[in-house]
Amino acid sequence: MRVVDARGKFHGTAVYSSSSQIAIRMIAGAKEEVTDLPRLVADRIRAAVEYRKVYVENTNAYRLVFSEADLLPGLIIDRYNDVVSLQILTQAMDDEPIRGAIIDTLVEEVSPAGILERVDPRIRELEHLPVRNSGLLWGKKSSTIITMNGDEKKGVRFHYDGLEGQKTGAFLDQRENYAVAARYAKGNALDVFCYQGGFALHLAAQCNTVTGVDSSRPALEMADKNAALNGREIEWIEANAFDLLRDYAAAGKKYEAVVLDPPGMGKTKRDLEKALSGYKELNLRAMKMVHRGGILITCSCSFHVGAEDFRETIAAAARDAHKSLRLLEIRHASRDHPMLLNVPETDYLKCLIFHVSS
Ligand code: SAH
Repeated sequence: MRVVDARGKFHGTAVYSSSSQIAIRMIAGAKEEVTDLPRLVADRIRAAVEYRKVYVENTNAYRLVFSEADLLPGLIIDRYNDVVSLQILTQAMDDEPIRGAIIDTLVEEVSPAGILERVDPRIRELEHLPVRNSGLLWGKKSSTIITMNGDEKKGVRFHYDGLEGQKTGAFLDQRENYAVAARYAKGNALDVFCYQGGFALHLAAQCNTVTGVDSSRPALEMADKNAALNGREIEWIEANAFDLLRDYAAAGKKYEAVVLDPPGMGKTKRDLEKALSGYKELNLRAMKMVHRGGILITCSCSFHVGAEDFRETIAAAARDAHKSLRLLEIRHASRDHPMLLNVPETDYLKCLIFHVSS
């Protein structure tokens, strides 16, 4: 639909949702006339593929289309080696002609062995879309092995099964941060909220011992399979991370490197304060457990927790813990998750790397 302001000035074209709190999402600016939406979607996907060809390297798993960040609101497409996984989050992208254009373009551009759709039933309900199950849309393959941060020999390998597990199967936005974390870490490392072992497996190449902690048993089972796939030995602990950190900090346990990558806290503006106190508590305990000269890698994937809020929260934790931290790197999501300067929501992931000086 055409978007005009109160004075009638044309601002561009948007897709409309009759049920979402976000009624319109821009798909084209004022300079672009949209007459054929399926064709526009196909062009946008091709442009997204081209962008990745330039800026994505050393991996066969990455995000191909990231919704607004690729000017395709409500469409997420991830590539896992020869399997492509898509998620449709808006009414407009669910239209049959659009679905057809998406699949045809992916087959042409990526030649996958399978294209599957991951359905979040809650989102379909919110968008008033008919019930649909996750499943293959094209081809036969829905599971594979991916390699990141290196080639088949030197990279880190993960099992991918698009029709099991959480989310789309992996947190691809942390891919570049895994490699950087591995450059800094040494000695004994602890990966808290490890999921299927993203950080832990990368750290294992540099560290003497690695322990991964998560509350999800299925995630840890997959993490263990991933460790075997890479010929690594990692200790996996199924626990509530808040409790475990409290106990470990109280017991005086120490590591040379600690990673904290909790799930999104403060998903809405309203529970921001609660989220910040959660981050403070986690970070305070974690930094107490880092040896002098060690590394703390701490992340937040909550958009509502801004970069400044996050840094201040960690600073407050450092004051309370009587620790001195040096900021080595301020990092974001990998480049396959583009950050649009005028769409602040696309810059949601914060990954800070600290040297724990005292
Ligand atoms: N670092 C991971 C991603 C972490 S996602 C990676 O790079 O792949 C967040 C993880 O936190 C999920 O695996 C979820 O199972 C786990 N989790 C959520 N609440 C938890 C809790 N209270 N204690 C421990 N793990 C928790």
